[in-house]
Amino acid sequence: MPPIDPVSLADAAVIGGSYAGLSAALQLARARRRVVVIDAGQRRNRFASASHGFLGQDGRSPGEIVADARAQLLAYPNVEWRDATATQATATAEGFRVSFAQGTALSARKLVLATGVIDGLPPIEGVAARWGQHVFHCPYCHGYELDGGHIGVLAVGPVSLHHALMLPDWGTVTFFTNEAITLSESDRAALDARGVTLEPARVVAIEDEATVALADGRRVPLAGLFVAPRTQMASPIAEALGCAFDDGPMGPYLRVDAMQQTSVPGVFACGDAARAAGNVALAVGDGAMAGAAAHRALMFG
Ligand SMILES: Cc1cc2nc3c(=O)[nH]c(=O)nc-3n(C[C@H](O)[C@H](O)[C@H](O)COP(=O)(O)OP(=O)(O)OC[C@H]3O[C@@H](n4cnc5c(N)ncnc54)[C@H](O)[C@@H]3O)c2cc1C
Repeated sequence: MPPIDPVSLADAAVIGGSYAGLSAALQLARARRRVVVIDAGQRRNRFASASHGFLGQDGRSPGEIVADARAQLLAYPNVEWRDATATQATATAEGFRVSFAQGTALSARKLVLATGVIDGLPPIEGVAARWGQHVFHCPYCHGYELDGGHIGVLAVGPVSLHHALMLPDWGTVTFFTNEAITLSESDRAALDARGVTLEPARVVAIEDEATVALADGRRVPLAGLFVAPRTQMASPIAEALGCAFDDGPMGPYLRVDAMQQTSVPGVFACGDAARAAGNVALAVGDGAMAGAAAHRALMFG
């Protein structure tokens, strides 16, 4: 099959070739539609060596899961892959024109946005370097492996209260409030009822594997540290297209209906970009729905 270019129209362009995008593209490929996947290769969980909680793949390398999925997808001759960053998508009479940072472009009748989110971590020395290895955000993904040990929760704002209340199911919890959260009497009572220890001293760095260094010189060794990142869209394309967003506790996310249709006709969205809090299994499920819905729109839309 010849490459899809601005002149020859693809049925669907999927922007983002990770869990959600691969899953969407698979449905379209199996519907014998001509689909192109554009991917910049910056999966959200690329910092972790193992992925947990995805049925049938529990504990596998996240990169291997994606590599297998991509190989299976690319076995379909009606699928084309572009290692590229999409910079713009504009509506045209036939659908959408997608431009790339690399200077090329293509056209497609429907668009699936599976571009994910970027995690904004607190600017504390040592946090970013340990992200996905000893510093995490998702207890379901990485809590079990901490063997019920001493767990820290680093406050970044009001959302951290919920984090601190959850984590006692995975170990003994110290909540480092770090001047980032104001706790009411009822918050303190709830934390106390869950057995959470409060640590008000300022956090200056994370050292060794997951040792919290405090401003007063004390050091608290932990099995792991949890922090709730502030997320932002990994790509500005949805906003530029005029898609509506909702505000989640971690950051904005794309508004979609039950069929993963955004507020812009012909544009579908799936995965972390289109839910308040995501994981691999949910991204794959959303992607399957987005792919089937894009196919439905191609048939009847
Ligand atoms: C450290 C860490 C560990 C995690 N561990 C787990 C775990 O164990 N289990 C679990 O279920 N979940 C885990 N997660 C969550 C999981 O990573 C996400 O839920 C999942 O990656 C969402 O899939 P997605 O396809 O929506 O987005 P992503 O996997 O983030 O993929 C988005 C893709 O779109 C591409 N892209 C973005 N913009 C463009 C553009 N303009 N042009 C082209 N391509 C673009 C990106 O480069 C990327 O390849 C973890 C997250 C983190 C941060």
